Amino acid sequence: MSPSFNLMDLEELTSNAKKIQEDVLEEILTLNANTEYLHRFLHGSSDKELFKKNVPVVTYDDVKPYIERVANGEPSDVISGGPITMFLRSTGTSGGKQKVFPVNDKYIEKLGYVIALRSLAMSKHFDSGGEQGKAMEFHCTKPPSATPSGLPIFAVFSSFFMSDYFKNRPSKCNSEYTSPDQIILCPDHNQSLYCHLLCGLVQRDEVVRVGAAFAFVLVRAIDFLEKHWKELCSNIRSGHVSEWITDLEGRNAVSTILRGPNPKLADVIEQECSHKSWEGIITRLWPKAKYIDCIITGQMAQYIPMLEFYSNKLPIVSTTYGSSESTFGMNVDPLCKPQDTSYTCAPNISYFEFLPVDHKGDMASIVDLVDVKLGCYYEPVVTNYFGLHRYLIGDILQVTGFYNNTPQFRFVHRKNVVLSVRSETTTEEDILKALNHVGLVLESSDLMLMGFTCYADISIFPGHYVFYWELKAKDVHNVFELDKKVMVKCCSILEESFDEVYRKNRSNDECIGPLEIRVVRQGTFDSVMEYFISQGGSIAQYKTPICINSSEALAVLENKVLARFFSEKSPPLDS
Ligand code: AMP
Repeated sequence: MSPSFNLMDLEELTSNAKKIQEDVLEEILTLNANTEYLHRFLHGSSDKELFKKNVPVVTYDDVKPYIERVANGEPSDVISGGPITMFLRSTGTSGGKQKVFPVNDKYIEKLGYVIALRSLAMSKHFDSGGEQGKAMEFHCTKPPSATPSGLPIFAVFSSFFMSDYFKNRPSKCNSEYTSPDQIILCPDHNQSLYCHLLCGLVQRDEVVRVGAAFAFVLVRAIDFLEKHWKELCSNIRSGHVSEWITDLEGRNAVSTILRGPNPKLADVIEQECSHKSWEGIITRLWPKAKYIDCIITGQMAQYIPMLEFYSNKLPIVSTTYGSSESTFGMNVDPLCKPQDTSYTCAPNISYFEFLPVDHKGDMASIVDLVDVKLGCYYEPVVTNYFGLHRYLIGDILQVTGFYNNTPQFRFVHRKNVVLSVRSETTTEEDILKALNHVGLVLESSDLMLMGFTCYADISIFPGHYVFYWELKAKDVHNVFELDKKVMVKCCSILEESFDEVYRKNRSNDECIGPLEIRVVRQGTFDSVMEYFISQGGSIAQYKTPICINSSEALAVLENKVLARFFSEKSPPLDS
């Protein structure tokens, strides 16, 4: 979305981070000093030093009772000086419970601000020719549920796209998206996805950017296209939208874009989609696309090889980092490799402190945003405008540099998401690195990893790591065959990639048993997603869990296992 309000310049924002952070804290404390929650610690004062001395660093369980009271109908000032008008639901896909966070329109405005700021940074790099184009972005929304007191509970992106802020955006008049808003707002995800593709295909020559909030949605869209391209072509050929698109507003909006029969366009698309390989399908169908725009760090990093394959290695720009608790920052260096993405903190969004990862219980080691040290690892501690004070986000970030005076961070992994059978701790980052190592073996076997997750099975002795893999042949016409040698090799490579503590434990069969890969049927990870969505999540915000511990989700996976493979030797130890 291109910014058209008075945007504080990125340079100014990042040059004055210290002052801006002080002002933000002052504003929050003045607003919230008399809430029941803060009054306990500050007795009505809004003194910043007292705040740091007296207000405890908390997790969700500490503030949950206050949040629940507001959700149940007590006044907002139990926790927030400003009005609470809605709640945001976090994803909770790793077995952790979904959480809800109180917010109001200010959250949406701040998110919109970061999106607009990011667009500015992006346009510096990609709009050099001054060529205007459209974005084909697969956004979708889920209607809100409600708290007992009747306040809406949204997923973050739904709250944004369903807000007046988005509805009345100035850039709307430029039709910056190929899809009309009615498609984003269509409550049926499959109809919405189909219509997004239809609109994007009809306007293929205008598309300069292909994106989604998270990489998962984009991969899903390509998969959906693979299943529906014949029908989409037939709609374009005839000028009629398929009958199963029953959402009236969406249907009318797409029909306007479809205009009438276009057999010539249908032929071109049909020809591209009929290729044996779908390598580069994005650039073949949307030849003017300059980059892919979606979050692809953290849990989404598993989709990098797939999107590079489908896009002929177009730049993939991982755009923003944030959460239901607070938007955090944006990527101002869009041409970096997705693996090297850092996010520049936006200091005017919330008050950010950082707890060093090696704090050993010493909460006094917390530092302000501008005092973090290059190369060090921290957990962000957020104080927002809506009632979270010194709240631990649960992500681990590493400082990678500074943009003017403002630190930039690499997302490392989530704190509590680890595999462990004995004394070893295998983080999400370790798992993703190990997966990278098997990439070459899979590639030489013409296979693509479409989805994976894992868990530490300690129900039998000795415990062992179990990976669920959904595989697909790169050549769309091929039915893949599983080669035991290749799969056993993959098990070994994964084990060799883990750290010394794992490998030492593994060298003793009594400690950790052989790593297992369970290959699951195609479509399994869609079913896992559907399970999580049925629990209240939203597709737009869905993050495939890297480690899974929900017994229901594990049951979905177990039902679809096609074959099992085990590592046949212990990994070598460092000499
Ligand atoms: P939610 O509260 O459901 O919006 O999820 C927020 C969480 O998603 C964050 O705390 C991160 O763990 C993850 N997340 C969001 N943005 C990114 C990103 N750019 N890179 C990696 N992880 C992210």
